[in-house]
Amino acid sequence: MVKMYNTLSQEKDSLTDKKINFFVCGPTVYDYAHIGHARTYVFFDSFVKYLRSLKYEVFYLQNITDIDDKIIKRALEEKKSSFVLAKKFEEEYLHDSKDLKIDSIDKYARATEHIEEIISQTKRLLEKDFAYLADDGIYYNISKFKEYGKLSKRTTKQAEDGTSRIDESVKKKNKGDFCIWKFSKEDEPKWKSPWGEGRPGWHIEDTAISEKYFGMQYDIHGGARDLMFPHHEAEIALMEAISGKKPFVRHWIHTGFLTVKGEKMSKSLGNFITIREFIKNHSPRILRFLVLKSHYRSAIDYEENKIKQIEQELRKIDQFVCFVEEKESTSENKELIEEYRKKINEALQDDFNTPVAIASLFSFISKASLKMEEINKKEVKSFLKELDSIFGFILAPKEERLYHSVDSYLMDEDLKKLVEERKQAKEKQDFRKADEIRKKIEDKGYKIEDTKQGYKIKKK
Ligand code: AMP
Repeated sequence: MVKMYNTLSQEKDSLTDKKINFFVCGPTVYDYAHIGHARTYVFFDSFVKYLRSLKYEVFYLQNITDIDDKIIKRALEEKKSSFVLAKKFEEEYLHDSKDLKIDSIDKYARATEHIEEIISQTKRLLEKDFAYLADDGIYYNISKFKEYGKLSKRTTKQAEDGTSRIDESVKKKNKGDFCIWKFSKEDEPKWKSPWGEGRPGWHIEDTAISEKYFGMQYDIHGGARDLMFPHHEAEIALMEAISGKKPFVRHWIHTGFLTVKGEKMSKSLGNFITIREFIKNHSPRILRFLVLKSHYRSAIDYEENKIKQIEQELRKIDQFVCFVEEKESTSENKELIEEYRKKINEALQDDFNTPVAIASLFSFISKASLKMEEINKKEVKSFLKELDSIFGFILAPKEERLYHSVDSYLMDEDLKKLVEERKQAKEKQDFRKADEIRKKIEDKGYKIEDTKQGYKIKKK
């Protein structure tokens, strides 16, 4: 049974229902996504794939915030329509996701395509007196919702004083009240509503979308920890006020940040590396490995020198994959695989503990390398494939591997000839000639090593 830490209960709760409606807050599409975003989305992708591998029926829904102050501001700066700008960056986001093998999402839902649902929720909130009309829009009155703060464990006073991404307006009744419908200014996008032309506030976009696809209550909601307050708190206040049902969401999962020198990577601080830039210089599997090597609730402090370490670890995996491909084994024995399949599963079932699971994978590789003849080769391959379908960094096409053996590498004909000549020279004990040929191989950019199994070639 999978257990996951639930921000609401502050405990590890079992996921008992095999059918799961799963919602993760998607990006605000006004710029390229950075590797901090990747931290959150790679984790959720891997987690959903794991649940599906255990036969959970997960419907994974992600919203796209394609109308927002930041989008409008950027569009005005660039003298573009905010729709054109948002569409472009939504496409870029999907492009990056594909490069990172994030492909578990069943449905992306744009805020601008759910205006009717947003207006319907606003109407119900006004009817129930949880919302009020002001000169510049319609606001949610947080003093009416007595449990405001229950997710982020804030007192009403602390919640009221919360200021991050809370709409500033002199017309509000309480400092923490948030806007659910903003009357649009002259040059802003607008939709008709019973109260005048306007556009939705941020928080209600998500509840309107989740209500449409999942109804008034659902199973799991995720996002990074900054969204806990005010965004997720506001979502609870909105939906529980509308439905009168508790809890709006049974299980809340929050990821830790990707930081730089201890500070959250973010557009506003300017300390970001876009996913696009990152994968220009490194393989996308490095980013997936970087994310999953740490527990999803811990922070990951990004430093370029961590990449070297990751490359070394991935090289070990690639070396093992080459070894498995080349080694002959007729054994039927699957014991070691079963032992490690169990260990890895235990780690993942316990709050998706990927660092422990990955450490077990390396321990398996060390042990299996020593006695490959005694293990069922087909089963090793399918074990690696199984893990790769969850983690997405284990198997790489030959040309992208960080380790190549003589047989498996797509060598050019010259290189193959040199390797063969060196082999013959060594057999004739002509070591001087063998050394000369080694130099020629090195000049071509490769390093050749003699091993017990034969020869190994690495790109220098
Ligand atoms: P945004 O586009 O800013 O709304 O962010 C989209 C998602 O990425 C949200 O769940 C954010 O909390 C998350 N996110 C943004 N920056 C980071 C970061 N540095 N580390 C982890 N998650 C992040």
